[in-house]
Amino acid sequence: MPLIDNLLTLYTVDRQVRSLRSRVESAEIYLKVQIRQLDELALEQSENQQQQKQHQSNIANLETEIGSIDSRISHLRDELKLAVNDKQYSALLAEVNTIKEHRKAFEQDELAEMSAVEVLENFAKDISTRLEERDKVKDLAAKDLKTHESEIAEQLSELQEERSAAAAVIPEDVLSDFDDIADDYEGESMAAIEIIDKKRKEYSCTSCSLHLPLETITTLMGNKDTIVKCGSCDRILYLEAASREALTPAEK
Ligand SMILES: [Zn+2]
Repeated sequence: MPLIDNLLTLYTVDRQVRSLRSRVESAEIYLKVQIRQLDELALEQSENQQQQKQHQSNIANLETEIGSIDSRISHLRDELKLAVNDKQYSALLAEVNTIKEHRKAFEQDELAEMSAVEVLENFAKDISTRLEERDKVKDLAAKDLKTHESEIAEQLSELQEERSAAAAVIPEDVLSDFDDIADDYEGESMAAIEIIDKKRKEYSCTSCSLHLPLETITTLMGNKDTIVKCGSCDRILYLEAASREALTPAEK
């Protein structure tokens, strides 16, 4: 078989190998995304727990404050009963009223802390739900990856054998060039030539749309063992059977 046909065979099987591998690659990426999102949720959860702890400890402190105010008030009330004159009585009463105001302020702070805890608790529930859901998705993704890996294992080894056979008939320098282009373009190492206008001899590369000189076409028509590459995208050019047929009478 002419070189260009051998290259096209290699091109076809090479793309099959790549697309098979990419199926597993996308399953791998998908699983990684799920794991990353789980990590983010776990971080959110631990931050939430920290914040709750902080507010709980604020509440405990406020309760201690309120408790000591209460005992101070009951002490002052006992003293009120024992007051010996109006002046002493008024002073004690004034102190009771002042610390009652303090108590009110502490109570308000406590309420604010409690509602903050409530908000955080609700948010924690939401995080738990999301964690559960994401965990299920992650398990499915892991399973999916395993299935894909085992599914392609057999097919991949068959295709790789086919690929080796197809590559074996290509000269080494051409093969290494082919592989480099394929790696650069995710397997798109070859490009068909499009006949834009046969009469006006206008042709282009189907990959990058570069207009190709007539010389490229005459070379390819004349010799199927010569490699012609696109001057712009560097892909190996070929003529599809239909184009070759369409050009044959015109060239004669
Ligand atoms: Zn091109």
